[in-house]
This record gives sequence, C-alpha cells and structure tokens, in this order.
Amino acid sequence: MWNNLAEPLTLNLEVETELPKVVVLRWGHRDRDKRLTSHVALTARALGASGFILADVKDEKVKATVDKVTKQWGGTFKFEMGVPWRKVVKEWRAKNGLVVHLTAYGENIQTSDALKRIKATGKDLLVIVGSRKVPTEFFSEAVSDYNVAIGNQPHSECSSLAVFLDRLFEGQELSKEFEGAKLKIIPQIRGKKVVRA
Ligand code: SAM
Repeated sequence: MWNNLAEPLTLNLEVETELPKVVVLRWGHRDRDKRLTSHVALTARALGASGFILADVKDEKVKATVDKVTKQWGGTFKFEMGVPWRKVVKEWRAKNGLVVHLTAYGENIQTSDALKRIKATGKDLLVIVGSRKVPTEFFSEAVSDYNVAIGNQPHSECSSLAVFLDRLFEGQELSKEFEGAKLKIIPQIRGKKVVRA
C-alpha cells in the first residue's frame, strides 16, 4: 500500500549541519514497543542523528517523551510520525539522499567495505531500522542502497543503530555539545553533577 494515511507529506527535517545529515526511520512500532521506540529515538538523538521518523503510525506519548528530552537537554532533533515509509523513502531518494537498511542479513560492517562506500558518497542518510520481520522490499534496490549488518547475529534496533552511528561519526558525536540545553551533565569520576545552563 502506498499511502494509508491521508496526510499530505512534506518532511520537515531541515537541519543546518556540515556533516551529512542522518535521519532514522523506525518501522514496525507496536503498542508493546513503546519504550523501545523511545529508546531508538533517544539513541538516534544522543548519537548524532538529526531527526527521527516513526513510520506509518502516530504515538503522541513517544513524541512527548523524545521532545521533552530535546527541550531539556538541547539540540535541534526533529521527531516526525505517521508518515508512510514508502513516501519517506521516495522523497529522500528524490532529494538524492542515500538509504541504509540495518539488518542482520546485510553486508557486515566489520568485514566488508560497506561503510567506506557509504561515507564516500557524502550523501545524507536515511537509516531504516525494523522491529518484527520487515517487508522483503526493504532489502531491494527500490528501497535500500545498502543493507548493513552490525555483525551477522540478530540483536536489536537500538544496539545496531548505536554501533552504526558511532562508526559513521567515528566517535565524534559522543563529545558533541547540544545547543540550547537547559540541563547539562558534568562528568564525574563518581556521583552525579547536573547544572542548569
Ligand atoms: N526477526 C527479525 C527479522 O527477521 O528482521 C529481527 C528483528 S530485530 C529484533 C529488529 C531490528 O533490529 C531489525 O529490523 C534490524 O533493523 C535491527 N537489527 C537486529 N540485529 C541486527 C544486526 N545484527 N545488524 C543490523 N541490524 C540489526
């Protein structure tokens, strides 16, 4: 099905950045996955992605959780939801963006040169992560430019996304300052120190 939501779509994920922009698309959110979807979005934000799309469905609770974190801890992370995944992929590709599908069945990030090839394009990335069994189409050229495995063992959308982003940004995202933060953690050897900015 092309569009099971009657909303017009124009993705509003424009973010000023010198690095290629990365937006994460989460496919397959179910009621029982609420917390996991929040965790995928928070992982995306904390590890350098510019935005997150919860495909096909809307979940105001998840959006509120993620937006609250962004408001308190800073940055310009954009959360979109309810957009049909096909439409996202179509628009992304029309803007010359690259689509990377994270899957245990793909090219191994450690033993292949997939990441090198992805980086060489210099293109903005739409990173698709699934939940339950994803549509077979995700593996096809019509949807994904790359199918990348974070090791060829099944694990989780959170762990695969974290490792992918960390390798993509080569760890630099971990020392990034989040602009406009109201709260900031001051790293300690022991204990917790949080200051108001
Ligand atoms: N049984 C599911 C399948 O056949 O796709 C596995 C789903 S897994 C719990 C949920 C998502 O985590 C997958 O859709 C994929 O995006 C991601 N994932 C899990 N293991 C991965 C791996 N080794 N490499 C890359 N992504 C992985």
